[in-house]
Amino acid sequence: TGGARTVPHRQRQPGDPAGSPQHDISLEAAMFQAVREGEFLLYYQPIVSSRTRRIEGFETLMRWKHPTLGMVPPVRFIPIAETNGLINMLGAWALKSALVQLRQFEEVARRDLYISVNISPRQFRNDRFLSVLDDALAFSGTPGDKLVLEITEGTLMVDPAHAESILGKMAERRARIAIDDFGTGYSSLAYLKRFPISVLKIDRAFIKDLPESSKDAAICNAVLDIAKHLNLSVVAEGVETEEQLDYVETRGCDYVQGYLTGKPMSAHVALAALKEDLYTELLPIDPRAGTP
Ligand code: C2E
Ligand code: MG
Ligand code: MG
Ligand code: MG
Repeated sequence: TGGARTVPHRQRQPGDPAGSPQHDISLEAAMFQAVREGEFLLYYQPIVSSRTRRIEGFETLMRWKHPTLGMVPPVRFIPIAETNGLINMLGAWALKSALVQLRQFEEVARRDLYISVNISPRQFRNDRFLSVLDDALAFSGTPGDKLVLEITEGTLMVDPAHAESILGKMAERRARIAIDDFGTGYSSLAYLKRFPISVLKIDRAFIKDLPESSKDAAICNAVLDIAKHLNLSVVAEGVETEEQLDYVETRGCDYVQGYLTGKPMSAHVALAALKEDLYTELLPIDPRAGTP
């Protein structure tokens, strides 16, 4: 109805232009058009082994390239899509495309990689989510164990009993679960015991002031310690400096993801990055060998 349209769709974010609710309504209308026009695309950010600095996987990050507004950041459009339900369709598209894209990444890299995909709370709760997941796995032919689904603590806490059953079904498909923005939600650590979780992603908020901030250092150390004892992998998000990389690597953090080791990039650029990695690996063996 027309009335529903006047409801503000999300909390204002810092940096929003004045008159944000009005702006969001036009943004929402533009989103439906954007779906028809195919203005959404996917970027991929390398997830790198902190020790070897080799790309082990990519996180899939959605982008909206609006013809006049330019790149609309996900913090602006994901909350709207979450409110109006478009996220189910966009999320299904992202999942399927990312799983297909992974196959090309692996072909070029000639080794195993994994792909991480963000799942919003509404997608996770959607009755059709498991069939969307199965479709995407079947269509792409990608094995489930190469998929990591990123969810937040909040997603688990809305309905823990339902979450437990969904996560069990994901485990049957061998997809792994990562807790995104770990430490920023308001949940208890008990869920680490209850749910089959494989990866913790330390939020950038705890990384950005390392190594100077002793509080952030303490938090990172505590997370790494818990992860070690629960046998979970850890990804440090938002690593921008060598000092930050050194700090987390020295303390046993397995993976880093940040501007230092690679910004979110188009699939085309990601393929070039993978080729480069292959080439530098071949160089020490025979410098005269032709390009692969
Ligand atoms: P997220 O899942 O925590 O993704 C990480 C965000 O940190 C990305 O922002 C990435 O570009 C940014 N980032 C990575 N390294 C650095 C760094 O070194 N410095 C700084 N300053 N930032 C860094 P992005 O792409 O703007 O996405 C923001 C959020 O939007 C994501 O946070 C995720 O919650 C959501 N999002 C993005 N794509 C999707 C999607 O396909 N589906 C869903 N449901 N949510 C998505
Ligand atoms: Mg994420
Ligand atoms: Mg995150
Ligand atoms: Mg984050």
